[in-house]
Amino acid sequence: MYNIAIDGTAGSGKSTVARALAKRLNFNVFNTGDLYRALACAYLDMGYHNVTEKSAKDFIKRCEIRVEFLEDGQHTFANGIDYTPRLHEEEISVLSSQISPFKRVRKSVRQVQRKFAKENNCVMEGRDICTDILPNADLKLFITASPEVRAKRRYAQVKDKGKSYDAVLKDIIARDYSDSHRKVAPLKPAKDGYIVDNSDMTVEETVDYCEKLFKDKMNNKKNI
Ligand code: C5P
Repeated sequence: MYNIAIDGTAGSGKSTVARALAKRLNFNVFNTGDLYRALACAYLDMGYHNVTEKSAKDFIKRCEIRVEFLEDGQHTFANGIDYTPRLHEEEISVLSSQISPFKRVRKSVRQVQRKFAKENNCVMEGRDICTDILPNADLKLFITASPEVRAKRRYAQVKDKGKSYDAVLKDIIARDYSDSHRKVAPLKPAKDGYIVDNSDMTVEETVDYCEKLFKDKMNNKKNI
């Protein structure tokens, strides 16, 4: 199976690039953030509230997670419930980042991710895919752009919500810091991966570049 691993900073467009790249190559695209988000939904539905190490440990023992790929893409289930429609609620975004640092939680998610990559050609994107989940992926990419460019992109999306550009930029800088300084699975480029800075690239150009990297790597492998 061919595996492309993608990590990257908030607002870098990594999910969009992962989706487009997978489409071109006819691979599945696996969004790993959705697993943490579905766990957060189940956490609430199972009656848990505040997140502590004890509650996270207890919860994960009682929660089974899986993904299915239907015609409209990835659906993420926890204890048999398809949580896909709820994954992007604000409360779930916050809770998913609170439960994701726990080792037991990551272990359970890791198993699902690795099993999927073993059985499918896929582009898998997240925070620790190149560095932890798929260290032997055929191609490892770290997608980023300058904080100012990422803030401009985000600002264009949230403009109508009354948030200023400066506030968006501040959030991006804070998120970069917390993503790269957390104790468990901090966001960082893999030593043997490629850093793709798309500050001056369109989505199309970024996908072209990543596709070329993949094809060149595969051709080199064949010629060895
Ligand atoms: O990527 P997304 O924002 O959907 O991820 C939701 C949360 O899941 C993130 O805030 C992060 O804490 C966590 N996450 C993670 N490792 C991944 C993917 C997501 O810790 N590979």
